[in-house]
Amino acid sequence: MQQTSSKMISTIANIDHIKQVNCATIYKVIEQHAPISRVKIAKVSQLAPASVTKITRHLIEKGIITETERQPSTGGRCAISLAPNSQKIYVIAAKIGRKFLSISHYNLAGKKSIDKRFNIEDKKGESLISLLRREIKSLIDDELQQGNSISAISITLSGLINPQQGKIIYTELNGLNNFPLVQVIEQAFNIPTFIGNHTRALALAEHYFGATQQSQDSIVISIHHGVGSGIIMQGKALLGVNCNIGEIGHIQVNPTGKQCHCGNFGCLETEVSDTVIVEKVQIAIENGEVAPFNNKTLNIEDIYLAAASGDPLCEKIVSEAASYLGKTIAILVNILNPEKIVISGKITTAKNTLFSAIQQCIVHQSLPDFHKKVIIQATELQPNSTIASFALIKKAIYEGDLLQKINIKN
Ligand SMILES: [Zn+2]
Repeated sequence: MQQTSSKMISTIANIDHIKQVNCATIYKVIEQHAPISRVKIAKVSQLAPASVTKITRHLIEKGIITETERQPSTGGRCAISLAPNSQKIYVIAAKIGRKFLSISHYNLAGKKSIDKRFNIEDKKGESLISLLRREIKSLIDDELQQGNSISAISITLSGLINPQQGKIIYTELNGLNNFPLVQVIEQAFNIPTFIGNHTRALALAEHYFGATQQSQDSIVISIHHGVGSGIIMQGKALLGVNCNIGEIGHIQVNPTGKQCHCGNFGCLETEVSDTVIVEKVQIAIENGEVAPFNNKTLNIEDIYLAAASGDPLCEKIVSEAASYLGKTIAILVNILNPEKIVISGKITTAKNTLFSAIQQCIVHQSLPDFHKKVIIQATELQPNSTIASFALIKKAIYEGDLLQKINIKN
């Protein structure tokens, strides 16, 4: 008896899962091909016309898609087309950075209408979460005043995150270790909330909106204060059972290098990051080397620009860093054989120095068959702190159950 009921529960769960997947597939087809008729949706999605009719009716009732103008069909008859109702579905995407909290308001088509930024250098733990809660509430209230609601919230940050448990495991910043962020935000607002590591989410953003849209296997490497990567394999973000894959910043590239915050020595992150490159230029100047900065406070933008215009000192330091990065990229090429590797960060300003050093490494340190095919390029996303966070919401729509949870008024 017990066996029968557990079998029934698992069958129901499977049916629910299939419904969820079919619903997401149809929504994605509508989003990518709108305006599109039901007949064409069935063709593109390879689902039965009856399922398409049922699911699209459900999505119309929920206000997620809408019927649009009639399109003349080849047979002379007119078919009603469908399109996302994305102008009516609003979400909040936030990023907790090292110095700033960025918080934006998007519609589901990805149009950002509000973008706020707060300095959080003096905030830790509860005071940071209070600021986050207050600003989310203010955006929700603004939306309510206009008769709209917020359908989802997402937050990215650096460190080890468990998106399934909605928990920050470890972050170097802000005193939020082992913090159940999703639970705290969902309890406050009763809105589906998602969190993720910022670089892993950036790889998704590049896959949905940027340079890797046409690639199934890709890697995004982000170089800022630290170095991290996000890996997409067969169109899906690679997270593993422990939810964290891609911490390339802690691959040892220089055994005689300095100690990293992880405790080991000569990690990639201690040889390549905006902070390290500023330090290296500073030390070289103190040792009497010539740099084109005339006693100005050093900043990373000037260093990368100087490297790009051929200043020997800056070029040498960026090239050395790029070689360490290239060594790591060659390892990634050997292990993962990706179609594309995208570099994100200000270092791409010095693109000639950067990409030629990387290319040299992968040619000599990875399998010819692999490196001949891989494309290495700079990001195609416009500077936007919260686009990675917004990508987590897209993922919840395409791969998760967010569509089932959205219910908007027409
Ligand atoms: Zn380390």
